[in-house]
Amino acid sequence: MKITRKFLYFISTTCKNIIDFAFPHVCLCCDNTIEKEKIFCDKCFSKIIFIQGSICYRCGKKVSLLPTEEKILCSNCLKKRPIYDKARAVFQYNAVSKNAILKFKNTGKIEYAHPFVFLLQQAGKDLFLETDLIIPVPMHWKRKLSRGYNQAGILAQILSKKTKIPYNENILIRARHTPKQEKKTKAERIKNVKNAFVVNHPEKIKNKSILIIDDVLTTGATVNNCAKELKKAGARAVFVLTIAQTAHED
Ligand SMILES: [Zn+2]
Ligand SMILES: [Zn+2]
Repeated sequence: MKITRKFLYFISTTCKNIIDFAFPHVCLCCDNTIEKEKIFCDKCFSKIIFIQGSICYRCGKKVSLLPTEEKILCSNCLKKRPIYDKARAVFQYNAVSKNAILKFKNTGKIEYAHPFVFLLQQAGKDLFLETDLIIPVPMHWKRKLSRGYNQAGILAQILSKKTKIPYNENILIRARHTPKQEKKTKAERIKNVKNAFVVNHPEKIKNKSILIIDDVLTTGATVNNCAKELKKAGARAVFVLTIAQTAHED
């Protein structure tokens, strides 16, 4: 997927200001030194895939249809509607976006978060208009204790400051420690996170639209469970915004 010249110009000029004070001038994916106005080195940038053009209105995954004014639904969402209302992502999940996310996840460096937040602001534009509250996908306290931070929380907090939409990380809690979702099948993922989340203050989300921030959307098992609990507790709508999203599995 080619990204437009206008979009590239927008990213390079607007990002410049953010990166100038916040970014260490190395490629988000590898450790190559890059010019001030860039996020990726040329080699990584040539492999990164921005999600744009025709996407499923619901899950945000790319669909092979010509862009239209109509709301397009992918085959998966037509078969089974997700519990969340809309999901959007910046990149397609591939080796480059995976490395970039891992680099941010493993170091937890705030300066790596800023370029991601800038890109999330672009990808989530239509979600912010309808959002009342931003929350991260919760991390169990044991994992947070061993890692020292929740990377989705870092992104969500900065995003909240930029969009001026309130942030709260105590609304949704991970009630039990679940093994990581990576390398699990779709069925295993669903089982793994079943009843893993609990809403702490239902009165704070009644009739509100909640935006969940996470790093990658794969099968949607985790965010669907979050959405289920939030809606059960009275949320009007649940949106999801991630750095990357896997392509359809079918
Ligand atoms: Zn690179
Ligand atoms: Zn879909």
